[in-house]
Formats: sequence, C-alpha cells, structure tokens
Amino acid sequence: MPERSIIVNDTTLRDGEQSAGVAFTVEEKLSIARALAAAGVPEMEIGIPAMGGAEQETIQAIAALRLPVRLMVWGRMTDEDIDAVCRCPVDVVNLSIPVSDIHIHHKLGHDHGWVLHRVECCVRTTVEAGLEVCVGAEDASRAHFDFLVQVAETARAAGARRLRYADTLGLLDPFTTFRRIRQLSASIDMDIEMHAHDDLGLATANTLAAALAGATHINTTVNGLGERAGNAPLEEVTMAMRHLYGIETGVDTKCFPGISQLVATASGRPVAANKSIVGESVFTHESGIHVDGLMKNPLTYQSFDPAEVGRTHRIVLGKHSGSAAVEQAYSRIGIELTGSQARELLPRIRQHAVTSKRPPDADDLRRFHREMMKWNSAVA
Ligand code: MN
Repeated sequence: MPERSIIVNDTTLRDGEQSAGVAFTVEEKLSIARALAAAGVPEMEIGIPAMGGAEQETIQAIAALRLPVRLMVWGRMTDEDIDAVCRCPVDVVNLSIPVSDIHIHHKLGHDHGWVLHRVECCVRTTVEAGLEVCVGAEDASRAHFDFLVQVAETARAAGARRLRYADTLGLLDPFTTFRRIRQLSASIDMDIEMHAHDDLGLATANTLAAALAGATHINTTVNGLGERAGNAPLEEVTMAMRHLYGIETGVDTKCFPGISQLVATASGRPVAANKSIVGESVFTHESGIHVDGLMKNPLTYQSFDPAEVGRTHRIVLGKHSGSAAVEQAYSRIGIELTGSQARELLPRIRQHAVTSKRPPDADDLRRFHREMMKWNSAVA
C-alpha cells in the first residue's frame, strides 16, 4: 500500500454540535478547539455564522486563539449565508447545497439548472471575498453521478478547490463508497472530502474506503458525535488509518481520553462503556482465559497497545475470572492467598458479579476474605 497523506477536518464544533439537544457554551467551544489543535488536528469546521450574533462571536473568539489549524465555517448557498460566511476570519468555507433529486425537488422545490446557477454565483462571490471554498454536496450518495460531476465542474470553474461528498443519511457501504469516490476522483480535478454518517454503523468503514479510493480530506467528530447516529469518530478513523494502512494523520492519539471526556461532558452525551478506543471498558479484562494470556504476554489478547491511546489494560474480577486473577487482585490489596483459598473465593466473587453487576472493590474483597476465614475457623 503506497504511503499517502490524508487531511482530517474535524467537525465536532459544527456537525457534532448539530446533534439534537447538544449545545456548547463559548468556553466549551474554545476548550474543544484548543484540545483538537493541541492534538494536531490540521483543520476544523467550527460553526454556522448564519445562526447569528452569538455564533459569530464564538467563531471570532476561536479565530482569535490563532491556533495552528485551518478553520472552516459552514453555510448554505443563500445570499444571507454567503454574507455571513464572508465576514468570518477563517481560511475555508463549506458551502452546502443538496444534489439529490429528492432534496432538490421536495426540499427546495427547484431543479438541476437552479442548483448549478446557485453554485456558480455563490462560489464566485465567496472566492472573490478571499476565502477558499469547499462545495458541500448534500445527499451526494443519492444523487445522479453525472449531475454530481456537473456540480463539481461548475464549482471548480467558479474557483472552488474541494468537493465534500456527504453521505448525509449514512446509507453507503464501504464497497460502494470505494467505487463512487474512485470514479469521482477520476472524473473531477478537485480535492474530495468524505463526510460519512453512522446510521448503519458504517461511518468509519466508509471513511476509510473513501480515503483509499482517493479522497484527500475526511470529516470526523470526537466520540462520533453528530446528527442522529453521528459522524465518523476521530479516534476510530485515525487509529484504523494507522494500523490498517500505515497512514498517519498527524493526530496525537494519546490525547484521545482527554478530548473524549471533554466532548462527552460538554455535549451531555456520555460515551458507551464499549465504545472502541475511548470507552471505559475497552481495555478491561475479566475472562480467566484472556487474563491468563495477558499476564503471560500482552500480545495474546491486545489489538494494539492501549498506551498508544493514553490508556492501560485493567483486570477486574467477575463471573468469568479464574483463580490466578483472584490471587493477583488480593495481592494488590496486601492479602497473599494460597491457590486453594483463591479457588474457594471464586464462587463468592461470581455470585457478587451476578447480583451487583459490577466488579468487587477492595472492601468487597476484604469482606469475602473475612467471611471465608471465619467460616473455615468455625468448621475447623
Ligand atoms: Mn452531516
């Protein structure tokens, strides 16, 4: 696989915040922008200036941080939105327009000719205002391919540099994505940005497919935050790029726990315990067979070193524990068990796991131990 670069354009602060019920304060947006910049994210979409005063002030405040990141704002192809985006001190503007017939006819009540005309004049005005333009092809995955190419060619002729291929409803699979993006990159002379949604759980897979097929930019969000089922998670995409294809995005993966926590708190959307890479329990092991393997050699049961994403393996006791893990857990709290004592404690630990739905803590372990010693001396 040839080494190639891919530019991450993180949209936590735009599509992420667009999730129903999510709204960041100015301070939260500034903290997230700083954290993403510190992690080395090269480009981020930070808001929608047409939303008005407060949003525009936030965009100004993020720009005033002078982070080493290219900043993008989002707008529709309307005169009001173009006015608003052109007043933002940012590098790139994503100008969004629907390209599928269902959106053009039923949402806008217009036709292909109208779309092409809007693209032409909106792109031109924005480029003349000194901004780089990416044309956001909304619902591209349901558009006629030839019309999408026509939109791209019109956009390029008017001065746009990039086309965002939005799988707005998340209905692509990786094989189709690969074919479409490869065909598109062979048909147009523009950068292509993949914007995937996770409605079928395929946002990361589709983003990888697009990158392999020739996309130059990819949209991500922290924790996969975003409309409905969300967007392609930054942490999944960067780790998969590295481990599957040897493609580095320049993002420091050790920063993920901090950024994930920050976004989870600011969005009010806690991360599921089993969410890949950043979930609480994804490096926690209980099963006797797995724990035994890990203690002999971590490579037996690790997909990648958790240290790479700022984490460590954690072993907990539970229903599937073996006696070696029991001995180790007691040793950590200063109680050295014999093999037979550890085996004797196992049923008690299993019972605790079933009734309490959590691993025993140090106090639980001491209590089980006391009970066992008391029982044993009583029957002795
Ligand atoms: Mn979106």
